[in-house]
Amino acid sequence: MKHQNQQRIVVVGGGFAGVEAAIALRKKKYHVILVSDRDYFFIYPISIWIPTGKIPFHQSTLSLTKLSQKHGFGVIIDELTKVNGADKNIELKRTGVLDFDYLVLAIGAGKMKHPGLEHTFSICGQPEQSLSMKERFDALMERGHGKIAIGFGGNPKDKSGVRGGPAFEIMFNMIHVLKQRKLYQNFSFTFFAPMPEPGKRMGNSGYKMLDVLLNKEGIAKKVGKKITGFEQGGIRFEDDSFIESELTMFIPASNGAPVLQNSDLPLNEAGFVLIDDHSKVQGFENIYAIGDVAALEGPEWKAKQGHMAVIMAQQAAFNIHQQILGSPRRKGYQQHLNILCIMDTGDGAGFVYRDSKRDFFIPMPVVGHWLKILWGWHFKLTRTLGI
Ligand SMILES: Cc1cc2nc3c(=O)[nH]c(=O)nc-3n(C[C@H](O)[C@H](O)[C@H](O)COP(=O)(O)OP(=O)(O)OC[C@H]3O[C@@H](n4cnc5c(N)ncnc54)[C@H](O)[C@@H]3O)c2cc1C
Repeated sequence: MKHQNQQRIVVVGGGFAGVEAAIALRKKKYHVILVSDRDYFFIYPISIWIPTGKIPFHQSTLSLTKLSQKHGFGVIIDELTKVNGADKNIELKRTGVLDFDYLVLAIGAGKMKHPGLEHTFSICGQPEQSLSMKERFDALMERGHGKIAIGFGGNPKDKSGVRGGPAFEIMFNMIHVLKQRKLYQNFSFTFFAPMPEPGKRMGNSGYKMLDVLLNKEGIAKKVGKKITGFEQGGIRFEDDSFIESELTMFIPASNGAPVLQNSDLPLNEAGFVLIDDHSKVQGFENIYAIGDVAALEGPEWKAKQGHMAVIMAQQAAFNIHQQILGSPRRKGYQQHLNILCIMDTGDGAGFVYRDSKRDFFIPMPVVGHWLKILWGWHFKLTRTLGI
């Protein structure tokens, strides 16, 4: 058997899960190579401030080169095109074949397709979309009036792939800026989602509070109707109704990353990688899948979130280490499942929490907004400085 420092550990993905796993494995002195198709870590939770111009794009990023220099892992900027789990290698677009002793797969999720998606902007897709959304929002503000529609979709095959929180954050942040510029009275907002009770996964308290906030701002609602397609000027629904919109921000639900269809790993119906409680891929002894790429098991309200990605990454590093040492000790993610989010509104936030025993939504005017800003700085500093 290979000695601890001869093990070659490859981490694919440079987001919450991949970066955290690489750092944690380096702390245990392993030789780690991180592969990512972007040369930066995009911190999605604070990217909600890019479209309204509150922060520039680069403030929502961390350079992978700088992180690798600080923590001592190698970086390959390249795209994963295939996983050959049985042969213990992966294929990369330019680099070719890369062998591994242990693989940590952390490539995040894919997005469900909808007709006409090119007429929408998403805050959960390619990072650059936050900038094109900013351009459109700026143009509408310049003109002085506009129609904005914001919504999210569902994935009936795996409901943990639904991401609604950022839709509300974008909407309330836009409203906040429009009010500051005394333009809000010239804008109309519509919130849309195909499920009858969007936001219910947060629990009853969060769901009710969101309704209060939407009503307070006079936002129109179109829920419970399937979206049939997006068009240049708006959104069409199954009942043939149409919402006019000049800026449509839509978050499609997640499904498995397309590259996984070209791999020999077990997938659930929605294309996410099947794992056990220790994040080890079912049927493979030396492959772990963590973060949004993995099929989560647990309560019906479970959700793919950044803090779960971080927990799974730290546990995967621990579990790999124990496996290499020949120890039976393992850590599991399921007991940590909860929903935790500071939902920013531009001038405050709501603290959302749900676990198997309780759920609550605590409105935090002013201080909540600063808490989220502080979280962002703290997250970046601790990873950059390695503290
Ligand atoms: C706008 C927004 C706000 C959010 N707010 C919160 C919040 O407040 N709290 C919270 O807990 N969660 C939040 N989330 C969810 C959280 O961001 C995700 O759960 C988290 O990013 C998942 O981390 P990940 O590393 O699994 O995937 P990702 O962050 O998506 O990272 C995937 C990485 O893999 C790379 N990659 C993808 N495909 C390939 C390939 N083929 N080859 C090589 N590299 C590849 C990507 O470049 C990226 O580096 C939010 C998400 C969004 C979009």
